[in-house]
Amino acid sequence: MTISTADIRRKFFDYFSSHGHQLVPSSSLVPADDPTLLFTNAGMNQFKDVLLGAEKRSYNRAVSAQRCVRAGGKHNDLENVGYTARHHTFFEMLGNFSFGDYFKKEAIEFAWHFLTKELKLPEQKLLVTIYAEDDEAFDIWSQHIGVPAEKIIRISTSDNFWSMGDTGPCGPCSEIFYDHGEHIWGGPPGTPEEDGDRFIEIWNLVFMQYNRQADGTLEPLPKPSIDTGMGLERISAIMQDVHSNYEIDLFQALIKAAAEITGAKDLEDKSLRVVADHIRSCSFLIADGVLPSNEGRGYVLRRIIRRAVRHGYKLGAQDIFFYRLVDALIGQMGEAYPELKTQRSTIERVLKVEEEQFSRTLERGMQILQEALESLTDKTIPGELVFKLYDTYGFPADLTNDVAREKGFSIDEAGFEKAMAEQRKRAQQASNFGVDYNSQLSSYSSSEFTGYDQQSGEARILELFST
Ligand code: ATP
Ligand code: MG
Ligand code: MG
Ligand code: MG
Repeated sequence: MTISTADIRRKFFDYFSSHGHQLVPSSSLVPADDPTLLFTNAGMNQFKDVLLGAEKRSYNRAVSAQRCVRAGGKHNDLENVGYTARHHTFFEMLGNFSFGDYFKKEAIEFAWHFLTKELKLPEQKLLVTIYAEDDEAFDIWSQHIGVPAEKIIRISTSDNFWSMGDTGPCGPCSEIFYDHGEHIWGGPPGTPEEDGDRFIEIWNLVFMQYNRQADGTLEPLPKPSIDTGMGLERISAIMQDVHSNYEIDLFQALIKAAAEITGAKDLEDKSLRVVADHIRSCSFLIADGVLPSNEGRGYVLRRIIRRAVRHGYKLGAQDIFFYRLVDALIGQMGEAYPELKTQRSTIERVLKVEEEQFSRTLERGMQILQEALESLTDKTIPGELVFKLYDTYGFPADLTNDVAREKGFSIDEAGFEKAMAEQRKRAQQASNFGVDYNSQLSSYSSSEFTGYDQQSGEARILELFST
């Protein structure tokens, strides 16, 4: 019997609790008081002020399993879902934290001990990266832990300098990778093939030393701290002896449920993975109070739902299907996240209404898109058409792009943005009211998100004006 995902979560808590860490519940996906952040994207988010020294807690070591969404903003993995073995829009990040208590040496010791002694991973399957200039980390890994020098890779890019957003706590980091074996394509970090899925990053140890200011300068933190993050689904895959996260117990259950509901036959179908991924992010976002809308967080949610619906349609779903997966999700995660149970009827209702709305235009929009794909002579879908699909059929640009990508096409982003800008101008002239209510349109232009308050403020104004 392999260990279940739920048991790994428990083991992590037990290990760090027994080393003096306070178990802290996951915070909401909607960050509290942080206008710079679209969604909670790491375990450290809820400890930001503690790391900055601005807030004191009764403990200086913590452990958590944080629900995270990376589907917009600085960390955006939406386009990776269905394409890599290791990315989700929603995932759980296991983390241990030190607030001015232990630092580099102990953090490395804890992580190594947990992986090799508690989980009993073979040492020779692991390799680590460090920030190029971090000789201290090199010495700890090499002399103290005994990792062979050739398995300690120096990386000079931002991959080994972690930051939460454009401002806030940050620092050099050291990442632990697992080698899934020669039969899988990919190279170790720092090589041109690193984007393959042979060497999968499992744990990031961040040595928090700085607070990045708006002008980019790095101000030293009052006390160096530790922030770590390990993807629960990734460590589960290793422990369950499978390569892809989508093959673990939890995802297999969701995939089977999705296959049953949509009538899909091939359990390996990429669309099943997408649907299984998206039911998690959508349900958790709704449970945390996000509702589909045309701007900001709500628009990200709407885009994910619509993508899921499109994949369900592709799998053969004949009827409104997405909300029916909530049951399977609660079966897998309801115990660890009771809010899924208490919010169940809201989640189902919101998903149902949203799908009903979109399904009215989905089929016609898909027809138009298919026809275009068949008749186009070059591999780019004109911006005008992307806009028409958005404007008339409710296809977010990233959804059109998702379809295009499956067929080896891309979309003319610039042309689309131009059409959008023209529409905004028309709307402004018509209403004499200069609000850009949809600056969060395409998921790949992730840097567009400049702060939430401003957008929700705009949304409130819009509401007032539209009633
Ligand atoms: P990658 O390079 O694989 O995209 P990352 O460096 O962006 O990962 P971190 O920001 O370091 O990830 O997050 C800490 C850990 O969280 C990672 O080591 C990984 O185990 C997990 N993780 C990050 N992004 C995802 C995701 N989209 N889905 C599942 N797990 C993730
Ligand atoms: Mg990433
Ligand atoms: Mg990485
Ligand atoms: Mg990382």
